[in-house]
Amino acid sequence: MEDKRIRNLNSFFRHIFGRKVKKVCLWGGFTCPNRDGTFSSRGCTFCNPLSSRPKTYEEGKSIVQQMENGCRYISRRYNVNSFLPYFQDYTTTYGDPNELDSLCTEALSYPGTVGLSLCTRPDCLEESMLDYLEKLSGETFLWVEIGVQTSDDRILKDMNRRHTSLDTMNAFKALHARRIFSAAHMIIGYPGSSVETVLADAEFVRKTGTNGVKLQNLHVVKNTVIANRFAAGEFELMTMEDYADMVILFLEHTEPRVVILRLTGEAPEELTVAPEWSLHKMIVLNRIHGEMQRRDTWQGKALGFNRSSLNSPPDNIRDI
Ligand code: SF4
Repeated sequence: MEDKRIRNLNSFFRHIFGRKVKKVCLWGGFTCPNRDGTFSSRGCTFCNPLSSRPKTYEEGKSIVQQMENGCRYISRRYNVNSFLPYFQDYTTTYGDPNELDSLCTEALSYPGTVGLSLCTRPDCLEESMLDYLEKLSGETFLWVEIGVQTSDDRILKDMNRRHTSLDTMNAFKALHARRIFSAAHMIIGYPGSSVETVLADAEFVRKTGTNGVKLQNLHVVKNTVIANRFAAGEFELMTMEDYADMVILFLEHTEPRVVILRLTGEAPEELTVAPEWSLHKMIVLNRIHGEMQRRDTWQGKALGFNRSSLNSPPDNIRDI
Protein backbone atom coordinates (compact mmCIF):
# COMPACT_ATOMS: atom_id res chain seq x y z
CA MET A 1 0.00 0.00 0.00
CA GLU A 2 1.24 3.50 -0.87
CA ASP A 3 2.59 5.42 2.08
CA LYS A 4 2.63 9.17 1.42
CA ARG A 5 4.66 9.92 4.51
CA ILE A 6 7.81 8.54 2.95
CA ARG A 7 9.07 8.03 -0.61
CA ASN A 8 9.00 4.28 -0.64
CA LEU A 9 10.55 1.84 -3.09
CA ASN A 10 7.27 0.75 -4.68
CA SER A 11 6.24 4.28 -5.59
CA PHE A 12 9.74 4.98 -6.91
CA PHE A 13 9.63 1.91 -9.18
CA ARG A 14 6.20 2.91 -10.46
CA HIS A 15 7.54 6.38 -11.34
CA ILE A 16 10.62 5.02 -13.10
CA PHE A 17 9.22 1.93 -14.81
CA GLY A 18 5.50 2.65 -14.88
CA ARG A 19 4.66 -0.61 -13.17
CA LYS A 20 5.25 -2.77 -10.12
CA VAL A 21 8.82 -4.08 -9.81
CA LYS A 22 10.25 -6.32 -7.12
CA LYS A 23 13.85 -7.03 -6.19
CA VAL A 24 15.07 -10.60 -6.54
CA CYS A 25 17.94 -11.51 -4.22
CA LEU A 26 20.72 -13.57 -5.80
CA TRP A 27 23.80 -15.32 -4.47
CA GLY A 28 26.76 -14.47 -6.70
CA GLY A 29 29.43 -16.36 -4.73
CA PHE A 30 31.43 -13.19 -4.08
CA THR A 31 34.01 -12.71 -1.34
CA CYS A 32 35.03 -9.81 0.86
CA PRO A 33 38.39 -8.16 1.66
CA ASN A 34 37.34 -8.00 5.28
CA ARG A 35 37.14 -11.78 5.35
CA ASP A 36 39.80 -13.01 2.93
CA GLY A 37 42.67 -11.49 4.93
CA THR A 38 43.24 -8.43 2.73
CA PHE A 39 41.87 -6.02 5.35
CA SER A 40 41.04 -8.58 7.99
CA SER A 41 39.96 -12.17 8.28
CA ARG A 42 37.46 -11.57 11.08
CA GLY A 43 34.79 -9.73 9.13
CA CYS A 44 32.54 -7.05 10.55
CA THR A 45 31.37 -7.75 14.10
CA PHE A 46 27.71 -8.06 13.07
CA CYS A 47 28.21 -10.02 9.85
CA ASN A 48 27.20 -13.57 9.15
CA PRO A 49 27.18 -13.74 5.33
CA LEU A 50 24.70 -16.62 5.40
CA SER A 51 22.07 -14.28 6.82
CA SER A 52 21.82 -12.53 3.44
CA ARG A 53 21.39 -15.77 1.51
CA PRO A 54 18.14 -15.66 -0.51
CA LYS A 55 15.23 -17.72 0.88
CA THR A 56 14.93 -19.54 -2.42
CA TYR A 57 18.66 -20.28 -2.80
CA GLU A 58 19.71 -23.86 -3.56
CA GLU A 59 23.37 -24.90 -3.62
CA GLY A 60 24.93 -25.10 -7.07
CA LYS A 61 22.19 -23.23 -8.93
CA SER A 62 23.26 -20.89 -11.73
CA ILE A 63 22.20 -17.25 -11.77
CA VAL A 64 19.47 -17.97 -14.31
CA GLN A 65 18.20 -20.87 -12.19
CA GLN A 66 18.20 -18.60 -9.13
CA MET A 67 16.28 -16.02 -11.14
CA GLU A 68 13.74 -18.69 -12.11
CA ASN A 69 13.24 -19.74 -8.49
CA GLY A 70 13.22 -16.20 -7.10
CA CYS A 71 10.93 -14.75 -9.77
CA ARG A 72 8.47 -17.65 -9.48
CA TYR A 73 8.25 -17.11 -5.71
CA ILE A 74 7.91 -13.33 -6.01
CA SER A 75 5.43 -13.48 -8.90
CA ARG A 76 3.12 -15.71 -6.89
CA ARG A 77 3.44 -13.62 -3.74
CA TYR A 78 3.19 -10.12 -5.24
CA ASN A 79 1.61 -10.70 -8.65
CA VAL A 80 4.44 -8.96 -10.56
CA ASN A 81 6.35 -9.79 -13.71
CA SER A 82 9.10 -7.14 -13.59
CA PHE A 83 12.21 -7.77 -11.55
CA LEU A 84 15.35 -6.07 -10.31
CA PRO A 85 18.03 -8.70 -9.61
CA TYR A 86 19.99 -7.86 -6.49
CA PHE A 87 23.44 -9.23 -5.69
CA GLN A 88 23.81 -8.66 -1.97
CA ASP A 89 26.28 -11.29 -0.79
CA TYR A 90 29.67 -10.16 0.51
CA THR A 91 31.27 -7.35 -1.57
CA THR A 92 30.11 -7.51 -5.16
CA THR A 93 32.54 -4.94 -6.59
CA TYR A 94 35.61 -6.54 -5.02
CA GLY A 95 37.48 -8.37 -7.75
CA ASP A 96 37.60 -8.57 -11.51
CA PRO A 97 35.03 -6.44 -13.37
CA ASN A 98 34.93 -9.09 -16.12
CA GLU A 99 33.77 -11.72 -13.63
CA LEU A 100 31.13 -9.37 -12.29
CA ASP A 101 30.06 -8.64 -15.84
CA SER A 102 29.44 -12.37 -16.51
CA LEU A 103 27.11 -12.58 -13.52
CA CYS A 104 25.34 -9.32 -14.34
CA THR A 105 24.87 -10.32 -17.99
CA GLU A 106 23.36 -13.63 -16.92
CA ALA A 107 20.96 -11.94 -14.51
CA LEU A 108 19.98 -9.27 -17.02
CA SER A 109 19.19 -11.91 -19.65
CA TYR A 110 16.24 -13.18 -17.62
CA PRO A 111 12.82 -12.14 -19.00
CA GLY A 112 11.18 -9.27 -17.13
CA THR A 113 14.43 -7.90 -15.75
CA VAL A 114 14.45 -4.07 -15.67
CA GLY A 115 17.93 -3.42 -14.29
CA LEU A 116 20.28 -4.48 -11.56
CA SER A 117 21.25 -3.71 -7.99
CA LEU A 118 24.64 -4.36 -6.41
CA CYS A 119 25.71 -4.17 -2.77
CA THR A 120 29.26 -3.28 -1.78
CA ARG A 121 31.71 -1.64 0.65
CA PRO A 122 32.75 1.99 0.22
CA ASP A 123 36.40 1.08 -0.33
CA CYS A 124 35.95 -1.44 -3.13
CA LEU A 125 35.40 0.84 -6.10
CA GLU A 126 38.64 0.79 -8.08
CA GLU A 127 38.85 2.86 -11.25
CA SER A 128 38.45 -0.19 -13.50
CA MET A 129 35.35 -1.22 -11.53
CA LEU A 130 33.93 2.30 -11.72
CA ASP A 131 34.54 2.28 -15.48
CA TYR A 132 32.58 -0.95 -15.72
CA LEU A 133 29.75 0.29 -13.51
CA GLU A 134 29.50 3.52 -15.52
CA LYS A 135 29.21 1.50 -18.72
CA LEU A 136 26.60 -0.79 -17.19
CA SER A 137 24.67 2.18 -15.84
CA GLY A 138 24.53 3.61 -19.37
CA GLU A 139 22.97 0.36 -20.62
CA THR A 140 20.46 -0.45 -17.89
CA PHE A 141 19.06 0.83 -14.61
CA LEU A 142 21.84 0.27 -12.08
CA TRP A 143 21.64 0.88 -8.37
CA VAL A 144 24.82 0.57 -6.30
CA GLU A 145 24.11 0.16 -2.60
CA ILE A 146 26.92 1.10 -0.21
CA GLY A 147 27.31 -0.36 3.28
CA VAL A 148 27.75 2.89 5.20
CA GLN A 149 26.42 1.62 8.56
CA THR A 150 27.30 4.87 10.40
CA SER A 151 29.27 8.09 10.01
CA ASP A 152 30.87 7.68 13.44
CA ASP A 153 34.48 6.56 12.92
CA ARG A 154 34.69 5.33 16.50
CA ILE A 155 31.76 2.98 15.89
CA LEU A 156 33.09 1.96 12.47
CA LYS A 157 36.29 0.91 14.22
CA ASP A 158 34.36 -1.04 16.82
CA MET A 159 32.46 -2.75 14.01
CA ASN A 160 35.83 -3.77 12.47
CA ARG A 161 34.66 -2.22 9.23
CA ARG A 162 38.23 -1.26 8.25
CA HIS A 163 37.10 1.85 6.42
CA THR A 164 36.37 5.39 7.54
CA SER A 165 33.55 7.83 6.94
CA LEU A 166 35.88 9.68 4.56
CA ASP A 167 36.13 6.52 2.44
CA THR A 168 32.35 6.45 2.40
CA MET A 169 32.02 10.06 1.29
CA ASN A 170 34.58 9.45 -1.46
CA ALA A 171 32.70 6.38 -2.68
CA PHE A 172 29.51 8.39 -3.17
CA LYS A 173 31.44 11.16 -4.90
CA ALA A 174 32.98 8.65 -7.30
CA LEU A 175 29.61 7.04 -8.11
CA HIS A 176 27.84 10.35 -8.60
CA ALA A 177 30.66 11.76 -10.75
CA ARG A 178 29.82 8.89 -13.12
CA ARG A 179 26.08 9.42 -12.76
CA ILE A 180 25.56 6.09 -11.06
CA PHE A 181 22.50 5.77 -8.83
CA SER A 182 23.40 5.06 -5.19
CA ALA A 183 21.93 4.02 -1.86
CA ALA A 184 23.24 4.01 1.72
CA HIS A 185 22.75 1.08 4.11
CA MET A 186 22.54 2.30 7.71
CA ILE A 187 22.45 0.38 11.00
CA ILE A 188 20.52 1.92 13.88
CA GLY A 189 21.18 0.80 17.43
CA TYR A 190 24.77 -0.40 17.39
CA PRO A 191 26.37 -0.35 20.88
CA GLY A 192 27.69 3.13 21.66
CA SER A 193 25.24 4.90 19.37
CA SER A 194 22.65 7.38 20.59
CA VAL A 195 20.06 9.88 19.39
CA GLU A 196 22.98 12.17 18.48
CA THR A 197 24.44 9.37 16.33
CA VAL A 198 21.16 9.05 14.43
CA LEU A 199 21.07 12.79 13.80
CA ALA A 200 24.73 12.87 12.75
CA ASP A 201 24.18 9.88 10.46
CA ALA A 202 21.17 11.51 8.82
CA GLU A 203 23.19 14.67 8.23
CA PHE A 204 26.09 12.65 6.83
CA VAL A 205 23.78 10.77 4.48
CA ARG A 206 22.36 14.08 3.24
CA LYS A 207 25.89 15.27 2.51
CA THR A 208 26.62 12.17 0.45
CA GLY A 209 23.80 13.20 -1.91
CA THR A 210 22.69 9.58 -2.14
CA ASN A 211 19.51 8.63 -3.99
CA GLY A 212 18.35 6.00 -1.52
CA VAL A 213 18.55 4.88 2.10
CA LYS A 214 18.08 1.47 3.62
CA LEU A 215 17.59 1.42 7.39
CA GLN A 216 17.92 -1.57 9.63
CA ASN A 217 18.13 -2.26 13.31
CA LEU A 218 21.14 -4.04 14.71
CA HIS A 219 20.10 -7.65 14.71
CA VAL A 220 22.33 -10.12 16.46
CA VAL A 221 22.88 -13.22 14.38
CA LYS A 222 24.64 -16.45 15.28
CA ASN A 223 28.37 -16.93 14.75
CA THR A 224 29.27 -13.27 14.95
CA VAL A 225 31.46 -11.23 17.29
CA ILE A 226 28.47 -9.16 18.30
CA ALA A 227 26.57 -12.33 19.29
CA ASN A 228 29.40 -13.22 21.69
CA ARG A 229 29.36 -9.72 23.15
CA PHE A 230 25.59 -9.84 23.51
CA ALA A 231 25.79 -13.22 25.27
CA ALA A 232 28.39 -11.75 27.64
CA GLY A 233 25.92 -9.01 28.57
CA GLU A 234 28.10 -6.20 27.20
CA PHE A 235 25.16 -4.26 25.77
CA GLU A 236 21.39 -4.16 25.49
CA LEU A 237 19.37 -3.95 22.30
CA MET A 238 16.76 -1.31 21.61
CA THR A 239 13.12 -2.06 22.11
CA MET A 240 10.93 -2.00 19.01
CA GLU A 241 9.38 1.25 20.24
CA ASP A 242 12.79 2.91 20.62
CA TYR A 243 13.84 1.66 17.19
CA ALA A 244 10.69 3.11 15.61
CA ASP A 245 11.46 6.46 17.28
CA MET A 246 15.00 6.44 15.86
CA VAL A 247 13.76 5.56 12.39
CA ILE A 248 11.23 8.37 12.45
CA LEU A 249 13.91 10.82 13.61
CA PHE A 250 16.15 9.72 10.73
CA LEU A 251 13.33 10.04 8.22
CA GLU A 252 12.36 13.50 9.45
CA HIS A 253 15.94 14.56 8.73
CA THR A 254 16.06 12.96 5.26
CA GLU A 255 15.17 14.92 2.12
CA PRO A 256 11.90 13.87 0.42
CA ARG A 257 13.73 13.16 -2.87
CA VAL A 258 15.56 10.20 -1.25
CA VAL A 259 14.02 6.76 -1.82
CA ILE A 260 13.55 4.71 1.35
CA LEU A 261 14.42 1.18 0.35
CA ARG A 262 13.76 -0.41 3.72
CA LEU A 263 12.74 0.55 7.26
CA THR A 264 13.71 -2.60 9.13
CA GLY A 265 15.99 -5.58 8.71
CA GLU A 266 15.47 -9.26 9.31
CA ALA A 267 17.71 -12.29 9.32
CA PRO A 268 16.52 -15.88 8.87
CA GLU A 269 14.84 -17.08 12.07
CA GLU A 270 17.26 -19.97 12.50
CA LEU A 271 20.19 -17.53 12.57
CA THR A 272 18.60 -14.79 14.66
CA VAL A 273 19.66 -14.46 18.29
CA ALA A 274 17.92 -11.15 19.06
CA PRO A 275 15.91 -9.01 19.11
CA GLU A 276 12.91 -11.30 18.79
CA TRP A 277 10.76 -8.41 17.53
CA SER A 278 12.93 -8.07 14.41
CA LEU A 279 11.39 -11.33 13.15
CA HIS A 280 7.97 -9.68 12.98
CA LYS A 281 8.52 -7.25 10.15
CA MET A 282 4.90 -6.20 9.71
CA ILE A 283 4.53 -5.35 13.39
CA VAL A 284 7.66 -3.18 13.22
CA LEU A 285 6.45 -1.45 10.05
CA ASN A 286 3.01 -0.88 11.54
CA ARG A 287 4.59 0.70 14.59
CA ILE A 288 6.69 3.07 12.45
CA HIS A 289 3.85 4.04 10.10
CA GLY A 290 1.34 4.27 12.95
CA GLU A 291 3.58 6.57 14.96
CA MET A 292 4.24 8.77 11.93
CA GLN A 293 0.53 9.12 11.43
CA ARG A 294 -0.13 9.78 15.12
CA ARG A 295 2.56 12.48 15.21
CA ASP A 296 1.55 13.78 11.80
CA THR A 297 5.12 13.69 10.61
CA TRP A 298 6.84 12.72 7.33
CA GLN A 299 10.17 12.33 5.59
CA GLY A 300 11.96 15.70 5.53
CA LYS A 301 9.62 17.47 7.96
CA ALA A 302 12.44 18.55 10.30
CA LEU A 303 14.25 20.02 7.29
CA GLY A 304 11.28 22.25 6.51
CA PHE A 305 9.82 20.27 3.61
CA ASN A 306 6.07 20.11 3.11
CA ARG A 307 4.46 16.71 2.92
CA SER A 308 3.51 17.45 -0.68
CA SER A 309 7.23 17.34 -1.60
CA LEU A 310 6.89 13.56 -1.46
CA ASN A 311 4.61 13.72 -4.50
CA SER A 312 7.21 15.37 -6.74
CA PRO A 313 8.92 13.12 -9.33
CA PRO A 314 11.92 11.17 -8.01
CA ASP A 315 15.51 11.87 -9.06
CA ASN A 316 15.94 11.36 -12.77
CA ILE A 317 18.29 8.42 -13.14
CA ARG A 318 19.98 10.10 -16.08
CA ASP A 319 20.29 13.45 -14.33
CA ILE A 320 21.93 12.85 -10.98
S1 SF4 B 1 29.36 -6.91 6.34
FE1 SF4 B 1 30.13 -6.83 4.24
S2 SF4 B 1 32.18 -5.91 4.48
FE2 SF4 B 1 31.61 -6.68 6.50
S3 SF4 B 1 32.48 -8.75 6.60
FE3 SF4 B 1 30.34 -8.90 5.93
S4 SF4 B 1 30.48 -8.99 3.69
FE4 SF4 B 1 32.44 -8.15 4.45
